[in-house]
Amino acid sequence: MRGGETLAKATEEDAEKRWIALMMKTAKKYHKLCPYFDKKTTQCLLMATVEGRVGKCDRDGKYDGCPILVKFLEKLYKYYTERKKVLPRDFQDVVNQAFIM
Ligand code: SF4
Repeated sequence: MRGGETLAKATEEDAEKRWIALMMKTAKKYHKLCPYFDKKTTQCLLMATVEGRVGKCDRDGKYDGCPILVKFLEKLYKYYTERKKVLPRDFQDVVNQAFIM
């Protein structure tokens, strides 16, 4: 029984990782710089959603592998799967959800 549970958990984690990788990949089609990077102020517009505080981006908007963006995607993955909703297949379909979560 235990082995089955562990396997299910690992499979779920794989699915989450694959989905996050897909979002990162599709994001590159549209965004050279992070869509949550405010160039004028260098603020990270995701910080409030993810960390509950206001903060600056210390990556100059380079989002590949950014832990804040990954955390946001993890949150979103949970949001969709808990509600048994179909996961988006393109980053552009989730980009504005930072402001409604
Ligand atoms: S910290 Fe990450 S999510 Fe925030 S603006 Fe910078 S690259 Fe984007």
